[in-house]
Amino acid sequence: MSIIIFLSLIYMPLMDFLAKPEINPYLQPTPFLVVLGNVQDGGSPHIGCTKSCCALLWENPDPQRKVTCLGLVDPVNEQSFIFEATPDFPEQLKALHMFAPFQKGDIPNGIFLTHAHIGHYSGLMYLGKEAFNSHQTEVFVMPKMQFFLEKNGPWNQLINEENIEIQPLNNQVYHPINSLIKVKPFLIPHRDEYSETVGYQIEGPNKTAIFIPDIDKWHEWEEDITEKITLIDYAFIDGTFLDSDEINHRDISEIPHPFISETMDLFSSMPLKEKNKIYFIHLNHTNAGLNNNSEQAKKIRNLGFHVANYLEKFPL
Ligand SMILES: [Zn+2]
Ligand SMILES: [Zn+2]
Ligand SMILES: [Zn+2]
Repeated sequence: MSIIIFLSLIYMPLMDFLAKPEINPYLQPTPFLVVLGNVQDGGSPHIGCTKSCCALLWENPDPQRKVTCLGLVDPVNEQSFIFEATPDFPEQLKALHMFAPFQKGDIPNGIFLTHAHIGHYSGLMYLGKEAFNSHQTEVFVMPKMQFFLEKNGPWNQLINEENIEIQPLNNQVYHPINSLIKVKPFLIPHRDEYSETVGYQIEGPNKTAIFIPDIDKWHEWEEDITEKITLIDYAFIDGTFLDSDEINHRDISEIPHPFISETMDLFSSMPLKEKNKIYFIHLNHTNAGLNNNSEQAKKIRNLGFHVANYLEKFPL
């Protein structure tokens, strides 16, 4: 191990502890979520982008710009899981392993997928023969997603070669992943060409989170997000676009995502403690909210909401 990696392993948790003593997993063995990415499927910098959002990032990439992904670490049961297999999968597994030092290698105990759009599952390719050649890595999916993986190459090769082992999930049915944590998928309205789309409810011994990285519009969902928020502790939700300025004033109804501005309006009359639970995730490369120092990011924070930050931890 290089001295730099060794020192950073020692100092990172320490610095983190000084900044956020309540969520240091090394002193308080409680399960936690960790944000491993907050960018939309196409990443940042984004293919073909010549605008100011990406101009500087081609020469100086920001190591925190990773595609949307959550890690789940349980230091008590010494297990880890990941939500989504993104194009940034190798780096995200490495980051997850930093938080789960008890794990033998970089491959977690299981992978939960939301749907078959490239930012959410294509990282599975790294588990195949050409790369890691993993053995029976558990991949948790809904029925249509399972059918898609089983019927299409190169994904079915992962199944045939036993690189992955499909673990079926059912809508609204809790799946206990160990003695402390259970996970429940729920259907979400989204353009479902190849699979259904789900969000996840993740329940630990003390806290509950929901993860909805992609949704068409809040009113198309059978549940009411403003009611749901009162029942949970953290919501990692679709923040793809900021407002209509970002997409050149195209009609809001044409865009199959709730703008951050729309979502904030929806919650405007709710108490601050409910707004505080919201962490926008899945931000497009054009979304100024990705830059913590932008006026737009400050406005989101000033109104009581957050953008999910890379490596931010949330105790469950
Ligand atoms: Zn997406
Ligand atoms: Zn861009
Ligand atoms: Zn999608």
